Amino acid sequence: MIGNHPRENTENILEVRDLVQTFSQPYGILDRLTGKPRKTVHAVNGVSFSIRRKEVFSLVGESGCGKSTTARTIVRLLEPRSGSIVFDGEDISAYSPTRMMHVRKKMQMIFQDPYASLNPRQRIKDIIMEPMLFHKTVAGKEEAHAEMYRLLDIVGFRPEQAERYPHQFSGGQRQRIGIARALSTNPSFIVADEPVSALDVSIQAQVLNLMMDLKDEFSLSYLFIAHDLSVVRHVTERLGIMYLGFLVEQGDRDVIFDTPLHPYTRALLAAAPTLDRERTGDPLQGDVPSPIDLPPGCPFVSRCPRRMDVCSRERPVLRKIEGRFAACHLYQ
Ligand code: SF4
Repeated sequence: MIGNHPRENTENILEVRDLVQTFSQPYGILDRLTGKPRKTVHAVNGVSFSIRRKEVFSLVGESGCGKSTTARTIVRLLEPRSGSIVFDGEDISAYSPTRMMHVRKKMQMIFQDPYASLNPRQRIKDIIMEPMLFHKTVAGKEEAHAEMYRLLDIVGFRPEQAERYPHQFSGGQRQRIGIARALSTNPSFIVADEPVSALDVSIQAQVLNLMMDLKDEFSLSYLFIAHDLSVVRHVTERLGIMYLGFLVEQGDRDVIFDTPLHPYTRALLAAAPTLDRERTGDPLQGDVPSPIDLPPGCPFVSRCPRRMDVCSRERPVLRKIEGRFAACHLYQ
């Protein structure tokens, strides 16, 4: 639940309000016979944020915090349990699969694993042409060929490389192919789900720089999903920190990085090395609690070094404080 939403804005390409996503745990015969209650995984819990046109907004948090599930729900690879998703002025939360097809060409994804996200049996040219032919963003095959060569050139390949298969390329090259495929339907919004975390550090900067160049050239907005704050710092304009399916802090990059307020954000930042300093703190102790039995109070209470009595009883809501939004009883 949000105490004070960031103001709605027609300049936003995306507005997500109180998004909830849950999954039922598998329930077998044995569970039924023993009368075990059905269990629900609370993956995303009332998440709200917006992304402006031509902006990079990042969702950051440890593995299992719900950031990828949030992203997949926004592009409707998963059905939202509740909440609204307004994309380019249209509420797409309840769109049918057929109706979503018209929207999907405007919202594309770049996946984490460039090895798994490309069909190994397709040549690169077919991988890139397929979405534009499917979505009919080109008049026919001739135009698709011309567009495919143009995109390959933009992401740094020679025309003859279009005949090759994914296994003939390195990880960084495959991710560039994935980027060309994402661009093939002329989208305005791209969800990049950990786009560089499977790549060597030396290649990560190349791919990130390419993505940022393309943002300007194609007037793109990005939802960038990452666990690595040092990566996010170089690309994002605003960010939201997620923990156990909740947004616990969100705001402008410099505000969050320079003066983090939420104890979880502070712990993440203290544990993240940057170009100009080593880690300044210890990594977080303990594990993220189970998203099945959510604590009644603050989701971070079991690991928070500053917890108080109220933290176990009452769930803090996201409120505007010192130029950003934070959900913590220390500031309420
Ligand atoms: Fe820590 Fe309490 Fe703030 Fe949660 S609400 S982050 S437990 S101080």
